[in-house]
Amino acid sequence: MNTHVITVLAGDGIGLEVMPVAMEVLEAAIEGHDVRLEWREQPWGSDYYRQHGRMMPTDAITTMTATDAIFLGAVGHPDVSDVETLWGMLIPIRREFDQYVNLRPVRSFSGVRSSLAGDPEIDVVIVRENVEGEYSAVGGRSYQGTPFEAAHQQSIFTRHGIERITRFAVEVAQGRSGRLVSATKSNGIIHTMPFWDEVVAEVVAQSDGVQLESVLIDALAARAVRSPQSIDVIVASNLFGDILSDLVAGAVGSIGIAPSANLNPEREHPSMFEPVHGSAPDIAGRGIANPIGQIWAGAMMLRHLGHDDIATGLEEAFTAVLERGEVTPDLGGSLSTVEVGAAVIAELRRRR
Ligand code: ATP
Ligand code: MG
Repeated sequence: MNTHVITVLAGDGIGLEVMPVAMEVLEAAIEGHDVRLEWREQPWGSDYYRQHGRMMPTDAITTMTATDAIFLGAVGHPDVSDVETLWGMLIPIRREFDQYVNLRPVRSFSGVRSSLAGDPEIDVVIVRENVEGEYSAVGGRSYQGTPFEAAHQQSIFTRHGIERITRFAVEVAQGRSGRLVSATKSNGIIHTMPFWDEVVAEVVAQSDGVQLESVLIDALAARAVRSPQSIDVIVASNLFGDILSDLVAGAVGSIGIAPSANLNPEREHPSMFEPVHGSAPDIAGRGIANPIGQIWAGAMMLRHLGHDDIATGLEEAFTAVLERGEVTPDLGGSLSTVEVGAAVIAELRRRR
């Protein structure tokens, strides 16, 4: 029996609603396979913060080190600042476990109306650098309280960091059409971005079967909404990847569908899998959150743990459910979170 120990961080808001549903769906997906999932649930997040003054205990990283993957719901609460949730939990996990790849597949589904004219078919993978670049803690404020007050922040791009994210993106592209788009802004950001371009081009030049196109981020944003079909795989820095993936996911339809994986591809540390959406305080507690983003994140986790076949089966099952219109109100349906989960489980069993 192949046992995987999974840290479960349901978090806050709708995270608490979509997580148990996704766990049940994953249990159904592994039925009949030689796999066991051992769940280790932790109560960390914004509620924990309000009781303990921190998002997670001091030994949280050590506690998770011994597990095979982290399955995250959503963290956030109107009374807890985004800086606290990000720097108190998500960023330490990504950095301590060197999850340097943020992988975000974005697909359109028939039955899910996109916000783009003509409902184009979209199938894009965004590979975002996840631990360096623009999101650095290097910088500060000067001359506070004077008319000369200023803030400055340095981006840190390392050769090592650009090489490894590009190598990962190249592998993704090789498994698809071979077309790789690199997001840049070397005309305006004249130190880090030309370096990014240079290293990306070097890595691609050493690889087989990949065609590189370097596109300015502003032009790429326009192209992502005008002709997303012309894009297959994107490699981008931390900031550009962050914005682009929300842009493309937003164009496709509900934010409730999109998944995201924070990967340590070498498997030296646990990777983390989460839906793109947040805790959605506006709909929390009503049982209507779309669980597909969490379920799809779970499929990515199974794939990372070596179960390609189970992951593919699960993706096919929730695609069928989506395309039949068995969906939550955000997609125009009337099913509850739990009912969508049940529909996916029924579909999995039907296909067995
Ligand atoms: P946080 O501060 O935790 O990031 P947020 O409100 O800023 O939360 P999201 O949680 O991503 O951001 O929500 C943005 C919008 O999308 C909200 O109106 C929310 O209700 C909706 N939404 C997000 N996730 C889902 C979901 N799974 N199902 C249905 N609607 C969702
Ligand atoms: Mg938010």
